[in-house]
Amino acid sequence: MARTVKRAFKFRFYPTPEQAEEPARTFGCARLVYNKALEDRTRAYTLEGRKVSYVQSSAALTEWKRTEELAFLNEVSSVPLQQALRHLQAAFANFFAKRAKYPTFKSRKKTRLSAEYTRSAFTYRDGRITLAKMGGPLNIVWSRPLPEGAEPSTVTVSKDAAGRWFVSILCQDTIRPLDPAGGVVGIDAGITSLLTLSRPIPGLTDAAGKIANPRHERADRRRLARAQRALARKDKGSNNRAKARLTVAWAHARIADRRRDHLHKLTTSIVRENQTVVIEDLTVRNMVRNHSLARAISDASWRELRSMLEYKAAWYGRELVVVDRWFPSSKLCSACGTIQRSMPLNVRDWVCACGAAHDRDVNAARNILAAGLAER
Ligand SMILES: [Zn+2]
Repeated sequence: MARTVKRAFKFRFYPTPEQAEEPARTFGCARLVYNKALEDRTRAYTLEGRKVSYVQSSAALTEWKRTEELAFLNEVSSVPLQQALRHLQAAFANFFAKRAKYPTFKSRKKTRLSAEYTRSAFTYRDGRITLAKMGGPLNIVWSRPLPEGAEPSTVTVSKDAAGRWFVSILCQDTIRPLDPAGGVVGIDAGITSLLTLSRPIPGLTDAAGKIANPRHERADRRRLARAQRALARKDKGSNNRAKARLTVAWAHARIADRRRDHLHKLTTSIVRENQTVVIEDLTVRNMVRNHSLARAISDASWRELRSMLEYKAAWYGRELVVVDRWFPSSKLCSACGTIQRSMPLNVRDWVCACGAAHDRDVNAARNILAAGLAER
C-alpha cells in the first residue's frame, strides 16, 4: 500500500543582491530572538524554578518588537522568528525528556545560517516560490521535479560556508513500499573503505563485501588539505585569509556533496536488497575530539548514512536494528565466538585459534549482523 510521507527537497538558488539582503538579515534576527528567549527561559528556570512556554516566549517577542532598540525585528518576516522560538521549544522539550543537553546559545560563527518559512510566509504558484518581504520569485535550479501536485508546507532558506544558497522545500510525497526482500545484512563503518557489508552484494560491493569511498575523494581530500595549509599561512584578519577560508569551505562542500550522492545510492541499494539491516551505534565517537581529517569525514558520513537508512527503512517497510556501541565487534571471531585479547587498529587480517582467517572489517560486519538478529 502506498503511503504519504513528508519529504524535503533541496535545491540551490541564486538570489539577486536585493534578495540576498533579506534572508541575511533574517538569519541574524532569528538567532537574536532564539538567544534572547533562551536567556529569559534560563533566568526563569534557575532563579524562579519556572518553565516558560512557547506561547509566553511568543508574547515576549511581540513586546520586544515594540521597544525602540529591537524595533528592527519588524523589518523581517515574523514567521522565521516564530520558527526560531519553536525550535527553542523543541530543544527544551528534548532537554526535559532527558534526550538532549541544556540548550546553548547560537554563535555568529558556528551556527548554520538558515531561516524557516511556513505556509503563511511564502507563495508557491506556477512552480515558483516567493518569500514574504522578498521582491520577486526565487531563481531556483530545479535539479529534479517536485512530486506531482505537491503543496509545499515549509520552505527553509540557508547559506553554507562556501557562500552557496539553498532552499529546502517540505512537501507530501507518496512512497510505494518495496516487495519484501529475503536478505539480511550487517554494516561496519570503515576507515580504509567507506563501508563493509557482512556479505558481498554484486554491483554494490567488491568480492569481499567492501564499498570504496566515492571516486575522486582522494584527490578532493588532497585539495582540501592543501587549502587548509594555505589558510594556516595567511595573516589573521587579512583579505587573503578570507579568500583562503572560502577555498577551504568550497573543498569541504565538494567532498560532502559527493559523499551524500554516493550514500544515497548505497543506502537505496542496501534497503532494496535486504529486509533487515544492522548497524552499530557509533554516536559515542562524536564526543571524542579527533583532528584527523579522514576520521572527521567518516564520522560525518556515518551520521548521514544512519539517518538515510532510518527513513528509507521506514518508507519501504524494512527493519533497521542498531546494536550497542560497546559490543566487541572487532575482537570477536565470527566463526567460533572466541574474543581476542587485543585487536590493534593496524591489524587488517588475522587468523583465529579455531583456524578461521578473517578480514577485520568483514568479520566485524558479520558480528554486527549476528548481534542485531539476536537482539531483535
Ligand atoms: Zn575462531
